[in-house]
Amino acid sequence: LNRRLDGLGTTIFAEMSALALATGAINLGQGFPDTDGPEAIREAAVRALRDGRGNQYPPGMGVPELRTAIADHQRRFYGLSFDPDTEVLVTAGATEAIAAAMLALLEPGDEVIAFEPFYDSYAASIAMAGGVRVPLTLRAPDFRPDLDALRAAVTPRTRLLLLNSPHNPTGMVLTGDELTAIAELAVERDLLVVTDEVYEHLVFDGGAHTPLISLPGMRDRTVSISSAGKTFSFTGWKVGWVTASAPLVAAVRTSKQFLTYVASGPFQYAIAEALRLPDDYFTAFRDDLQAKRDLLADGLTTAGFEVYRPQGTYFITTDIAALGEKDALAFCRSLPERCGVVAVPNSVFYDHPDAGRTQVRFASCKQHAVLAEASSRLQRLE
Ligand code: PMP
Ligand code: GLN
Repeated sequence: LNRRLDGLGTTIFAEMSALALATGAINLGQGFPDTDGPEAIREAAVRALRDGRGNQYPPGMGVPELRTAIADHQRRFYGLSFDPDTEVLVTAGATEAIAAAMLALLEPGDEVIAFEPFYDSYAASIAMAGGVRVPLTLRAPDFRPDLDALRAAVTPRTRLLLLNSPHNPTGMVLTGDELTAIAELAVERDLLVVTDEVYEHLVFDGGAHTPLISLPGMRDRTVSISSAGKTFSFTGWKVGWVTASAPLVAAVRTSKQFLTYVASGPFQYAIAEALRLPDDYFTAFRDDLQAKRDLLADGLTTAGFEVYRPQGTYFITTDIAALGEKDALAFCRSLPERCGVVAVPNSVFYDHPDAGRTQVRFASCKQHAVLAEASSRLQRLE
């Protein structure tokens, strides 16, 4: 393994999902729903397979039906216009989009500012591109970004900000004021911003997602990334996308074509249909996930965890210090044996692990009965 990948080892999601399989514990670790997405969309994938659409290499930018559906979705929800031919790129999930963006936009030694705790592929993607990660620590209990610290973190070597809102694992959602301040800073310091918006449809309590690219000065300096995995509960299909200016899309496409070239042929047609589902689908999905958040948050609170109530995503970050625990990784490794539940330690998502030493993340994207059972098992913790 080269030095760039030192310390990246096996992802925590693989480790914890393997532990769930080996022990038969309820898996509230890796973030995937235990109910597949809409039947009509599964049928659409079957039809595409059967009718021979996408069984051979699709076009490098993605099939036109999907690119148009992505552009229409950006207009429907955010009033944004993208040219489906030059400003939309289909990727193998958001993961590939993030990696391709880092490989396309970074010179070795360029600094990338990212919130910590961060989704683990950020560290790997920045490292593979030879970039230098500059973490901006989000702190409990509300995990709001410190905008003065962000401003102070920008140096002449800063190339881009890699942002994620709604934020995994904390559930923090950037406010309008925060987005404005970030946009002003990006314009002032001439920074690119890559935004990971995979939880765009999971903002709770009446809030709404605002893409950074919609703010003044951001249209030509933002690479917006999203994915069908979370919004439509098809994490295994790996259909993601980039929307950005034509030059930025062309840059990301250049590296993307040598990573996978293309992916997910028939699924691209099915996701084109998913993106055209009526508004009711999106609100019902969000309301269901909000109810699940509430159910699990209550169970965790009763079990003695300190719960940081998320504003979005399908994760709940907790603190286990209140339970007398000192180390999230050790806690998560022992949890299946102690009570038959798997969770993920946030400490591995920090460059400064002390900041998250006692933070543990639970996924709430599971059936109500499963969350109820997990909650009752967690009450057994001494
Ligand atoms: N970004 C974040 C914040 C995530 O939580 C995930 C996990 N789904 C991804 C990106 C990866 O998305 P995909 O499965 O589409 O590659
Ligand atoms: N995004 C999911 C999570 O945060 C997992 C994706 C993965 O396993 N790489 O749990």
